[in-house]
Amino acid sequence: MRVVFLGPPGAGKGTQAKRLAAHEGIPQISTGDIIREAIRSGSELGKEFKGYSERGELVPDELVVRLVAARLDQPDCKMGFILDGFPRTVPQAKALEQLLDERRMPLSAVIFFDVSDDEVVHRLSGRRTCTKCARIFHVEMEPYKGGPCAQGGQCDVVQRADDKAEVVAERLRVYREQTAPLVAYYQAQGKLTRLDGGKSQNDVETALNRVVT
Ligand code: AMP
Repeated sequence: MRVVFLGPPGAGKGTQAKRLAAHEGIPQISTGDIIREAIRSGSELGKEFKGYSERGELVPDELVVRLVAARLDQPDCKMGFILDGFPRTVPQAKALEQLLDERRMPLSAVIFFDVSDDEVVHRLSGRRTCTKCARIFHVEMEPYKGGPCAQGGQCDVVQRADDKAEVVAERLRVYREQTAPLVAYYQAQGKLTRLDGGKSQNDVETALNRVVT
């Protein structure tokens, strides 16, 4: 299984990718997670990423493509992978095609999680994340202030800098402008499956399993 998860921020790609990856025993490759980890590490690359991420902008294509190329060469990708949040521009999609051609690993599907702008704003502005175990909460889902943490103790729940209202608006604008064209791009290749990402997590998971397994 070699799939791409496409959709606006907050569409549920990460949640579904984690579930499917665990079920299939294949890695979830989240470029957002890789980028946040680099920022946390304080590396030179991380410092470069920080500004883009905090403004809700995309980091330059060449940098993300290099990160993904290195990740695809890890042995755990031999059995398949879920690309979550990559590609996000047409040049990234073209670079991915080349990377996968070179490795003789063609994509099996591209899943588009379709969610309205209103739902995205509602989900992201209320989203809180545990700094220790990365579990995701929503302020309307009590008790969001943190149950037992997978890393021990209680969850340490914060709002991601890029989930603040003004950054969410910018991320949505960037999505419409740079990422949404990938829907038509993959549709033209006959690879795209559209799922209603506005449904409950379990309903989306059922629909997803029907398509990919
Ligand atoms: P995410 O968690 O997927 O919403 O990603 C968080 C941030 O990481 C984005 O707002 C971008 O700044 C950056 N990022 C993640 N994936 C990509 C990508 N494929 N291309 C460019 N920037 C990305």
